[in-house]
Amino acid sequence: MSEIINVKNVTYTYDDEDQRPALKGVSFSINKGEWVAIIGPNGSGKSTLAKTVNGLIEPDSGEVAVGGLELNEKNVWSIREMVGMVFQNPDNQFVGSTVQDDVAFGLENLGIPREEMLERVRTALEKVNMLEFAEREPARLSGGQKQRVAIAGIVALRPDIMILDEATSMLDPQGREEVLRTVKEVKEQENLSVLSITHDIDEAAAANRVLVMRDGQLIQEGTPETIFSYGEKLVEMGLDLPFP
Ligand code: ADP
Ligand code: MG
Repeated sequence: MSEIINVKNVTYTYDDEDQRPALKGVSFSINKGEWVAIIGPNGSGKSTLAKTVNGLIEPDSGEVAVGGLELNEKNVWSIREMVGMVFQNPDNQFVGSTVQDDVAFGLENLGIPREEMLERVRTALEKVNMLEFAEREPARLSGGQKQRVAIAGIVALRPDIMILDEATSMLDPQGREEVLRTVKEVKEQENLSVLSITHDIDEAAAANRVLVMRDGQLIQEGTPETIFSYGEKLVEMGLDLPFP
């Protein structure tokens, strides 16, 4: 199977006073079409790792390759086009005054012609089941609907990889369920690879593989069944997941 993401021995320290490394030599890969979940305590480096994968953060050492392209100055924009990211707080992700303007924003930036843009916005909103809200102000949507619009904004850009960084953690159970179902659907339809950072057991269970992170390192890796079977041991690892 071919790898869409390949991370080798990545280290990173934020330039602040404590100088504690956020990533201490992390290696993993994701195959085309695979869904990988990352779980781990707060502060363990999950978001930092996700940001190295789309070029928001340049590692201090190690290698990141996306779609066979090494992350470097020359490739960073191509890589950002391949990777769409959904963040935790739905309210921080809107730039448009209506749902359709918001989804169109990324396409406008790419200079996509108007006709094609409208068609791609429409199709993306259909895929996340939000077409009927196209004219609505994003502020007047539920949390789950907002995240589905954020996902539409990514789908419209036709990426290869979607990263969800705790994208369901601020939602109520219904919102979480809606977003999870939407991710499953668009992943299949668009043949996406997914990297999802989560504290939600249903989201981790939807993945093909689960990575466990602690203190800047990956400490376990396995199928959801294998990882969940560690039960109490995961609590000792510092995880706050409600494991069965
Ligand atoms: P997680 O997503 O697993 O909660 P993060 O990747 O956000 O963890 O954080 C990893 C470590 O890096 C933590 O110690 C955190 O305090 C630190 N960190 C995160 N973002 C910044 C930042 N912008 N500036 C300085 N330190 C940061
Ligand atoms: Mg985080």
